[in-house]
Amino acid sequence: MNTLASNHDVIAAAATPRIPVQGRDGRALGVFPVRRIYCVGRNFAEHAREMGAAVPASKTERGQPVFFCKPADAIVIDGNVPYPPGTGDLHHEVELVVALGRDAQPGVLDREAAMALVFGYGVGLDLTRRDLQSAAKAKGLPWDTGKAFDHSAPVSALMHASEFADLASLALTLEVNGDLRQHGHLHDLIWDVADILHELSELFALRAGDLVFMGTPAGVGPLVPGDRFHAALGDRLVLDGRIASRAV
Ligand code: MN
Repeated sequence: MNTLASNHDVIAAAATPRIPVQGRDGRALGVFPVRRIYCVGRNFAEHAREMGAAVPASKTERGQPVFFCKPADAIVIDGNVPYPPGTGDLHHEVELVVALGRDAQPGVLDREAAMALVFGYGVGLDLTRRDLQSAAKAKGLPWDTGKAFDHSAPVSALMHASEFADLASLALTLEVNGDLRQHGHLHDLIWDVADILHELSELFALRAGDLVFMGTPAGVGPLVPGDRFHAALGDRLVLDGRIASRAV
């Protein structure tokens, strides 16, 4: 038996999704291959409130963050998002995106070790089929159909972490058709980037290529075919795109 033949891929391997990396001047610096996408739920108090969830009274009472995942190939880098099937209530959630550039050492990460993994940041949308997510929540079922669908993670270019010494002072905004829908400040995150990487490291082996969507501020709402969105992370990065007709 030919061992080479027995080890060959029997189908074509799927391409690894990649995100452009740009400098502060907009210069293209390469591409970032994506491994996994972790997402954080309810990381801004005002958003937790609008979703009817309990809001911790203080950081010591915040408990554990809610995590879920999206497939890596949910990434959209050209802003062109087809209206997804199976929903009548697609929602926008603008979020800080953290990109990891190194594998974590085994074990739980402290804050310093956590931040040493960060390659850079972007701004993205955690697109949500809110009707499916709400139905799943009501029955205590997983959120996958509401969150982890095709084209559910449009993201901007990434920029190196060294351009974000003032990260906590930056605002996260989303305009839809020119109207401001979401506005939040990163200093209002219930769990900051180091906190979230610490918590994730208790559950998963973090690796280079992983992305973390950090949770959305208040103001989530519907997107319909034809809508144009404009997300921004302070004065560093923008994500422009539109919702196209339903995929057929
Ligand atoms: Mn979200």
